[in-house]
Amino acid sequence: MSSRQFHAENAWFADGWRRDVRFDIDTGRYLSGALLDVQADSALESAESLGHWVLPGMPNLHSHAFQRAMAGLAERRGDPADSFWTWREVMYAFASKIGPDDLRAIATQLYVEMLKAGYTQVCEFHYLHHQPDGRPYADPAAMSLALIEAAQEAGIGLTLLPTLYMTGGFDGRKLTERQRRFGHEVDDFLRLVERLRMLESSHLRIGVALHSLRAVPEDAMNAMLDGINSLPVSRSGLPGNTMPIHIHIAEQVGEVQDCLAVRNARPIEWLLDHAAVDSRWCLVHATHIDDKELHALARTRATVGLCPTTEANLGDGLFPLKKWLDAEGLIGIGSDSNISLSPVEELRWLEYGQRLISRHRNISANDVCASTGSVLFGSALHGGTNASGVPIGAFVGGDASLPSVGNRADLLVLDEMSPLLAGRDASNLLDTWLFAGNSNLVRDVIVNGDWVVRDFRHRDEARIAARYRAVIARLHR
Ligand SMILES: [Zn+2]
Repeated sequence: MSSRQFHAENAWFADGWRRDVRFDIDTGRYLSGALLDVQADSALESAESLGHWVLPGMPNLHSHAFQRAMAGLAERRGDPADSFWTWREVMYAFASKIGPDDLRAIATQLYVEMLKAGYTQVCEFHYLHHQPDGRPYADPAAMSLALIEAAQEAGIGLTLLPTLYMTGGFDGRKLTERQRRFGHEVDDFLRLVERLRMLESSHLRIGVALHSLRAVPEDAMNAMLDGINSLPVSRSGLPGNTMPIHIHIAEQVGEVQDCLAVRNARPIEWLLDHAAVDSRWCLVHATHIDDKELHALARTRATVGLCPTTEANLGDGLFPLKKWLDAEGLIGIGSDSNISLSPVEELRWLEYGQRLISRHRNISANDVCASTGSVLFGSALHGGTNASGVPIGAFVGGDASLPSVGNRADLLVLDEMSPLLAGRDASNLLDTWLFAGNSNLVRDVIVNGDWVVRDFRHRDEARIAARYRAVIARLHR
């Protein structure tokens, strides 16, 4: 069996840093890019030296790629009561201009920037399916394929979540003109999912999403979930009943009120009563969750997908993180509207929001681990990996405390020469990285055993950025 070896002076495991870690990565034909072995206290010998501080790549569990191209364009007041709902109108107007080639160019640039920030897998919550007038493209999978090609070109892992979107509200109203390109009937949707599953690879996993409870009626939700659970094994040998399932939920107070009015229950309460929520599920936002819902949801082992910079940007509210972590709930982070592409900023804001509202410090730390940064980073890796449905990160997997052989080799190397890290050791490295830096400290990124970012540069960034600029110039004309 052929392999290559990397060596890290320090590598981060779920239970802390270990010294002199050797990674054996398969270069054979079938498991290429997977970890064959991970050993601490191992001599450098013939292994290639990575550097001083090596961490697993971070999964980004929630992204809408096209929204990157409008980042910064909704920060001017139009209405004194500007809110999520007025932002959504700006977003719809922009979305109506984007076709498959545009999406490919936007997403490729986006994914390059994600990689440079330390994300090595992205869950793309994808509902921009059809032509602007609502008719399918000649190839109904055209927009999905654009995202798959973008991820391939950038070299990031992709969990593509084709998203079922059927109605414009809890009352079952039809989609508006601007929402028509999002819509599917369940049968068409399942055909799309089946087709995409035939493309799965080490870099591509197919899951599904329900846009939200307001966008999917109960009978359609049941038909979709039954449909995916009975799908045969995918190209990578995974049965339909292991697919990740994501949903936007309880992001807005108005959504909770509408759900109460029509379904006589709060959104998370309703979902738990009507679907078999388990560890395959990722509930994105879950901002407006009450104590009863919180404890019931934590018991399911579903992940809550938190997107602090977008939630702040949209004025959503604050998720009760402390209570959730105390209930041993799982979290991951997402860049959502892609206003910010930085796991550092997501995790920092996640903690800072809680500090501001509670007037206490070090909210995420606990009795087992006093380092706030370590708890945040480890939690986001764990939940993000679950939500991605991909065995990534050198140091997480079935047993989070042990190296997982067979995991994809996704590694980040921090810039040990940064003055910020001078004098830092294993006890405070993550706290310093997450709370003190303003420039990016991710120097190198390896995905599936391949270098995609080296010395802060992506292997193809100039060409990808030039194409992006040309597309944006045309879209804004
Ligand atoms: Zn979203």
